[in-house]
Amino acid sequence: MNTTIVVGGGIAGCTITYTLLQRGHTVVHINNNTLPSASAVAAGLYNPIVFKRLVPTWLATDVVPYCKQFYKHIEQLTHTQFHYDIAILKLLTEQQEVDLWHKKQQDPETSRWLGNVATGNIDGIHNKHAGKGTVNESGWVNVPMLLQAYTAYFSTQHNYTAINEQFDYNQLTITPQTITYKGLQAQRIVFAEGVYVSNNPFFKHIIMKPTKGDVFKIEADLCQDYVLNKGCFVIPYAPQKFIVGSTYNWQDTSWDASLEGKAELLTKVNDLITTPIIITEHTAGVRPTTHDRRPTLGTHHTHKNMFVFNGLGTKGVLLAPYLANHLAQYMHNEIELMHEVNVSRYKAL
Ligand SMILES: Cc1cc2nc3c(=O)[nH]c(=O)nc-3n(C[C@H](O)[C@H](O)[C@H](O)COP(=O)(O)OP(=O)(O)OC[C@H]3O[C@@H](n4cnc5c(N)ncnc54)[C@H](O)[C@@H]3O)c2cc1C
Repeated sequence: MNTTIVVGGGIAGCTITYTLLQRGHTVVHINNNTLPSASAVAAGLYNPIVFKRLVPTWLATDVVPYCKQFYKHIEQLTHTQFHYDIAILKLLTEQQEVDLWHKKQQDPETSRWLGNVATGNIDGIHNKHAGKGTVNESGWVNVPMLLQAYTAYFSTQHNYTAINEQFDYNQLTITPQTITYKGLQAQRIVFAEGVYVSNNPFFKHIIMKPTKGDVFKIEADLCQDYVLNKGCFVIPYAPQKFIVGSTYNWQDTSWDASLEGKAELLTKVNDLITTPIIITEHTAGVRPTTHDRRPTLGTHHTHKNMFVFNGLGTKGVLLAPYLANHLAQYMHNEIELMHEVNVSRYKAL
């Protein structure tokens, strides 16, 4: 038997579960469905460009094509659509920003991701911008639908068992060969608990810097062809329906939709959109962000059959497929872990 226990049913837990099932593992998947999760509220956007500095996001040339191909594959497998290739239109306020965009279009590091700068007006938004830069190869994933697709697929697999409960760390017995949990025997365990990893006695040394985000769903009469960005993202998800996200708050790390978050998002959206909006939903969640903004993968320093898959931060959609594969390859002794993501970096601190 080649049994792995996976704890966590967000995008990290589900993606590593899928990846291990593909490699022939038997997976016992433990998730507390009553806990709020970041994946349940994620806006679902992925963007190859960091707008602040107009540079590619970390590992862009690897992770962007990988995630596109991965999600298309899961869509085919599950006969569900949850992934959309959609351009981001970055509104550039000053001529200086337009000039920088043009310069970066010539730079081999960024040229692939930066499309044309448009100058025409767009109905329903403040047209006080010097230009509108198009990002290539960006996309949107309806994350709750992805999780539903995973769940439906898992339920058809003979080598998969789901348990809906709060994992109790005190019930774990570990030997170098075996992990025993409430009478269940496995060869290894993977923890993918998002910000709740701080309750995990085996990995509480990971330095998390949780980041709360508020997000809206709105109705508005706006173009559906692209994602608008200026201070916030406006993502079309259905006719005349948009997701507006997100705020970043490191002080308040509660899961409640906050008045402060609402006020901030409203200011941003009103700075962008002129057409009337109706807020149909306001939610919030806490991103599993680490102190150095890098994901956290690898084995426990003593228990080599105990793994962690966490720290996806603001980029769960983009990073989960590539890094789940990276972790699986590492588990099977096929590769060394990238040092930036290795959980061993915390032991040294
Ligand atoms: C407002 C907001 C907007 C976002 N927008 C985007 C976006 O546009 N693009 C993007 O890529 N990312 C976005 N993110 C980030 C993204 O949501 C995260 O990167 C991702 O969801 C993290 O997934 P995870 O599986 O690690 O954690 P989670 O989704 O939080 O999942 C953790 C799971 O572990 C379970 N769990 C924890 N402890 C236990 C236990 N002891 N026993 C049983 N179960 C347990 C929980 O029930 C939960 O289901 C956003 C996040 C927020 C909050």
